[in-house]
Order: sequence, then C-alpha cells, then structure tokens
Amino acid sequence: MPEQHRTVEEQLRRRECELDMLKEITRVISSGKSIKEVFGFVTESARKLLGCETATMPIVSDDQANYVYRAASGKNAEELIDSELPMSVGLCGWVMQNQRPWWRGALDLLDDSERNKWEKDAGTVILVPLIGKQRFLGGIACINKINGDDFDEQDLDLLTMFASHVSIAIENAMAFDELRTARNTAEAYRIRLEKLNGKLQQANGELQFLAVHDPLTGLPNRALIVDRLERGILTAQRDDRQLALIMIDLNNFKDVNDTLGHAAGDQLLVSLGKRFLGLVEDDLTLGRLGGDEFAVVLPGAGIDRALAVSSMLQDLLQQPIDIDDRIITLDASMGVSIYPDHGTRPSDLMKCADVAMYVAKRNKLAVSVYNSQNNPYDQGHLELTRDLRTAIKRNDIDLYLQPKVDMRSGTLIGAEALARWRHPVQGDVPPSKFVPILEQTGLIKEFALQVLEKAVRYCKQCERAGYEISVAVNLSVHNLRDETLPDQVEDILARHDLDSSRLTLEITESAVMDDYMKSIEVLGELSDMGIELSIDDFGTGYSSLGYLKRMPVQQLKIDRSFVGDMIMSRDDAVIVRSTIDLAHNLGLKTVAEGVETEAVLAVLSEMGCDMAQGYLISRPLPMEEFFLFLKNCDWIVESVSAA
Ligand code: C2E
Ligand code: MG
Ligand code: MG
Repeated sequence: MPEQHRTVEEQLRRRECELDMLKEITRVISSGKSIKEVFGFVTESARKLLGCETATMPIVSDDQANYVYRAASGKNAEELIDSELPMSVGLCGWVMQNQRPWWRGALDLLDDSERNKWEKDAGTVILVPLIGKQRFLGGIACINKINGDDFDEQDLDLLTMFASHVSIAIENAMAFDELRTARNTAEAYRIRLEKLNGKLQQANGELQFLAVHDPLTGLPNRALIVDRLERGILTAQRDDRQLALIMIDLNNFKDVNDTLGHAAGDQLLVSLGKRFLGLVEDDLTLGRLGGDEFAVVLPGAGIDRALAVSSMLQDLLQQPIDIDDRIITLDASMGVSIYPDHGTRPSDLMKCADVAMYVAKRNKLAVSVYNSQNNPYDQGHLELTRDLRTAIKRNDIDLYLQPKVDMRSGTLIGAEALARWRHPVQGDVPPSKFVPILEQTGLIKEFALQVLEKAVRYCKQCERAGYEISVAVNLSVHNLRDETLPDQVEDILARHDLDSSRLTLEITESAVMDDYMKSIEVLGELSDMGIELSIDDFGTGYSSLGYLKRMPVQQLKIDRSFVGDMIMSRDDAVIVRSTIDLAHNLGLKTVAEGVETEAVLAVLSEMGCDMAQGYLISRPLPMEEFFLFLKNCDWIVESVSAA
C-alpha cells in the first residue's frame, strides 16, 4: 500500500476512534452522573484523545474572579485538583480573559514581552475555552504529549471540537448540580424547619401546661379548676347528677413562712403538692388556687363523698413533713359546696365553698359544708350589709362600756368598749355577726375609727366628771394591717386631749398571727406612743412563746371560755393558772374575762390574776348607765384630783 494511502487510512481510523469516544462521552454526560464523575470523565477522555500526560479542567468561579481546577487526569492530577488561582495568573488566566484557545500558534497574537514569557513551553500546553449556551464556563487543558511532540494545529482542532461537544453537556451538568445542591439545601432547610417545628410544638405544649398549671407544685391552677368545674357541671346537668367542690386553706401557713422563711414555705407546698398528686382517683381534679389555698373538684359526688374525700385530705395533710430537718405538721380548714344545691355556675360554687371554708376557719372546724345562712352573697346577707353600711355612715353604732377591776386593790380601773348595733327591723345584732361583715366589706377601717373616737370621747367625759379610768377598744385583724392606724389614733387622742396611757387596744392572738410581721410593725408604733396593748381571747389561738416574747404587749386577757368553766373543769383551771404564771414570767398582767360568780373571782384572786371583767361586776352598759355605775358601785374609783 502506498505511503499516502496508509496515512489517509491511519487518519480515518483515528477519526473513527475519536467519533466513538465523542459518542461515549455524550452518552456518559447525559446519563445523569454526578458532576464530579462527568468532569472526571471529560478530562480522562481529553487526555486519551490528545495522547497527553495530563488533562485538566479549570472552571471559572461564580464571581468570575478566580478559576478552580475542578478535575484533572493523568500525571500530577491529585495536586492540581481543587487548586484555585486568580484570573490574572497563568495560561489558564489568559484563556479565560481572552476567551480564545491557547496553543503554540497563539504566540503570534502576543506582544514581545508576553511572547518571551510563554514561548519556552508554548508547544507543551494546549488549552481551549469551554463556552456554554448561557455563559463562559472555563476550559480544558492538555499538557505534554506522551510522544514528546509539541501540540499542533490538528490537536487544537480536535480539542476545540471536543470542547464544543461537551461544553453544553457540562453546562447542563453544572446547572443540574446547582439545582441538586439547591434542592439539597432546601431539603436541609425543610428538615431543620421540621425539627424547629417539633421544638416549637413542644414549647407550645409546655406553655399550655404552664398556663393551666401552678409552676411551684405542678398541680392544676385556678384556670384549670374552673374549666373542670364548667365541664363537670355540664356533665352533671346532662346525667342529672351532683358535683362537689372542696376548698382547702392551710392553717398557720403564714407561721411557716414567717419563722422558717419563704423558701421553706415553698418547699412545704411542693411536698404537699406531691402528696396530693398521689390521691388522684377516678376523675377527681386537685389543684392549687394560689397561696396556701387548694381546691378539689369531684364530679358526680354529693356531700357524703365530699366529706369522705376531705377526711382523706386531712389525713394526708397531717402526716408530718420534713423541711430542713424540721418536722412540720399541718392542718387545714375546708369548705364544701355542691352542684346543684348551692349553685349552677363555677363562680357560685367557688363563692359558696369559700364561705364554707371561712366558717370552718372561724369555728376551728376541719370541714364545713356550705349553709346559706352564712353566705355574704345571699339576699338577706346583702340587705344586712347595706343596712350596716348606712348605720356606719350615720354613726348609728352604739358603744357600751363594761367595767374592769383591779382584784388586789378593788379599784375600778377601766372599761372595755363594746360595739352594739340595733337593726331597725331585726333588733340587736351581735358583734359576732356584724364584725365579720365589716371585715369582708372593708368597712372595718371606718368602723374602728368611729369606735375609737367614741371611746376616747367617753373616757374624756369620765375624766371631766372626775373619774380616772382607762378605756379599752377592740381592733380587728384588718386594722392591724392598716399602716395609717397609728397616726389616726394619735390624731384622735390629740383632738380629745386624752393621755395615750389611758387607751388600751385589744387584739386577738389570731389577728396578730395572721400577718405577724405587719402586725408587729403597727403594734410597735402604737406601743411607742404609750398606748397599752392587750392580747384578747388568749388561749384560743396558737401563739408560740417565741412570738409572744417579741410582741410589745403589756396584758393578756384570758378567754372567757376557760374562765367560765374553771370551777367545774380541772383542765380549764390548769389552763387559767398556767396562763397567769406564763404572763407573769413574761412581765405581763392578766385580765380574766367572763367572770360571772364570786367563786370564780375568789379562785382567780388566789391564782394571782391581776384584773377581772364580767357580768359579776357589770354587764356592758350604755354611757349614761355606766356613769351611774361609777357613781354608785362598791368598787373604788380613783378621782382625777386624788391622782
Ligand atoms: P371580746 O373582746 O372578748 O369581748 C368580750 C365579750 O364577752 C363581749 O361580747 C362581752 O359582752 C362578753 N362578756 C362580758 N362579760 C361576760 C360574762 O360574764 N359572761 C359572758 N358570757 N360574756 C361576757 P360581745 O359584746 O358580744 O362582743 C363579742 C366580741 O365582739 C368581742 O369579744 C370582740 O372581739 C368583738 N367586738 C365587740 N366590739 C367590737 C369593736 O368595737 N370592734 C371590734 N373589732 N370587735 C368588737
Ligand atoms: Mg375584747
Ligand atoms: Mg375576749
């Protein structure tokens, strides 16, 4: 075969080979392989096609400032891959900037200085641009022909054709890759969003829990109790059944807070909450209304079940609680109301249970079932409240005086002022009935000032008439919380020109204990003014010696319930005797109230009691009669001039 033919044949074979390769490349590129595989395949093919040591693919970065060798094949491929260079550097930079191929022939396009720079290795590198439909992508470079020749024009044509063939496919692969990356990012966002949503839902759940639960004890709060009441009432209505509500108020919880601190108080509530949670039976809901108040909703329950549950609660309450190595025992006052007997709305049932609880507390009962007679919200009660308001406005409440005598000297030393209200229709209403209403309505403040004003005036009248006596006024727990009280008392004394030593203020021990800190402050101020302070109904409350010692009082009034029975009851006699001893040891004087017989007076005298008050000496008297009594009684009454 002539030489010429052989060359042509050789060229044809090569062309066929190249075509096969191009077809294969197109197939691979369009087969949806990853961009890395596509790039790898392209460089590998280019290297084989041109028969060179290395082929590589510089691709322009997104901001067009750099190019990156995204793929390489052959010698030094590993070192090249992923290296990044600025657009101004190297042959690649030149191709990128000029968007035309580099081969030895391109030297003719350069000026002298550039040509000197590139000329040495010009034949060993060939680099053609990759231009897609939308944008300039980068290039394909081949380095060092294996046979040692320089790259020639034929190589340039071949690589150019190859580049134009693969460029669109590469552009598509890149676009597809971007799309996939975007999709992956979106998917990652979706997953993150889902996770966040989950967290949000959990937080929402926690918030919802907090909205209807008490954060301290974890028990349902007032809102949830009301909700359970509402639902319970609906079901009870539908099924024609009852429902019970129990309200629980801890006794002496304030003492725990005051003596052991609020942290201990909280700890106690938490322990109690845990204990209560153990009680959850059937569809019962037990929650904390706030402070030391709890409530239980018992769907379907009547009075019997309510009382059974309240006794279970008392049992739970009375198990000792260990707080900071101190053993504390509690008890509580509970009030019960029943649907539909006492109301058909949650608010009514709550009011009724509250009233019942208040009655239990006042009467020192563990539990009390609502009774409309005690209800401050029922019609009769509302009318009484209205009339009482009018009486206060008109200053219609009378003050009676009951004498108090010094047992050793037989001197009438003073009188207790006792309020009397004659209702226009109902007649005499006892203070035990109207004082609680005054307390509930807030009228007690105004009332106390009226009583003080009248008592001080009476005392001054006695003084003007020549009798040196003092007057004692009863204060309610609410008066002790009124910080303006000391100033007002001072004002009244000043207006009537009465010496402060002639006024005694009586407060019940439970009134002081109710808010010890506040009371002690107000009492301190009153005591500093020179006013005598007396603890009324002593023995019925639960003052501890520790409290007593710190209180600025001068007198204990022994409750008439002990005094009245002391002849018949040994226990009462023991209580009276030890109260007198205790008072004397603390430097306090004692007054026995409710002295009705000579026998009692004699025993009290033998026990060393200082003063006595009671029907034996005199009943409480209106002012005019009290005057007559002063004049005519057998007791010594010191006259002002003698003093
Ligand atoms: P208290 O301060 O312990 O008053 C003594 C109560 O015992 C008075 O009842 C008095 O009438 C009664 N009493 C006196 N001697 C005897 C006796 O020998 N035998 C018996 N069985 N009872 C006797 P009263 O007047 O019904 O007052 C009851 C309570 O009402 C008082 O108890 C006091 O806590 C309160 N109170 C009365 N007046 C006022 C007032 O002006 N303000 C305030 N905040 N409370 C008042
Ligand atoms: Mg009194
Ligand atoms: Mg009393």
